[in-house]
Amino acid sequence: MTIHLYEGDLPEEVRFGEVVAVDTETMGLRPQRDRLCLVQLSGGDGCAHLVRIPPQGSPAPNLRRLLADPNRLKLFHFARFDLAVLEHHLGVRCAPVYCTKIASKLTRTYTDRHGLRDLCRELLGIELDKGPQSSDWGAPELEERQLQYAANDVLHLHALKERLDALLAREGRTELAQACFAFLPTRARLDLLGFDEPDLFAH
Ligand code: MN
Repeated sequence: MTIHLYEGDLPEEVRFGEVVAVDTETMGLRPQRDRLCLVQLSGGDGCAHLVRIPPQGSPAPNLRRLLADPNRLKLFHFARFDLAVLEHHLGVRCAPVYCTKIASKLTRTYTDRHGLRDLCRELLGIELDKGPQSSDWGAPELEERQLQYAANDVLHLHALKERLDALLAREGRTELAQACFAFLPTRARLDLLGFDEPDLFAH
């Protein structure tokens, strides 16, 4: 595994294929309160590209262009959160998307364990380091352990997608998953507008 760390934006020369794994690290779990600190990307080739976002924010034109590119599928684990964060802090509507957590919930109905670590263990036989349970992603210098942990969150998503696509096909839920993925950007926007609590779809 190789980790590349950048400040403020993705360099022009970094290129990805049609599927890009994406994750974010923030100062907390509330997109409107907690700033975006790091955006991790991987093309599924064992390389992780980590973009630090400074406290004052960053225009990050290359990163935004990639995230909004309609011809590139952005692969997340729990996209709902990351999409809200990316829209709020980078002003980018990220699409099209795929969410490994949704795919897992639609297929692995025999369990309620749909965390990234659970999926890596069961579907790939990979034991991920538990990493720092909580950590200061806004620190001026990130520790080696934080970088490894952040990279791990995007390095296995391509392999997971392959396994989950097979499960979706086997269970006849590919189309249902597609419809869920297509709705995710709207779901994230609803969250930002305050329609998450109480949930818009609740009684
Ligand atoms: Mn993460």
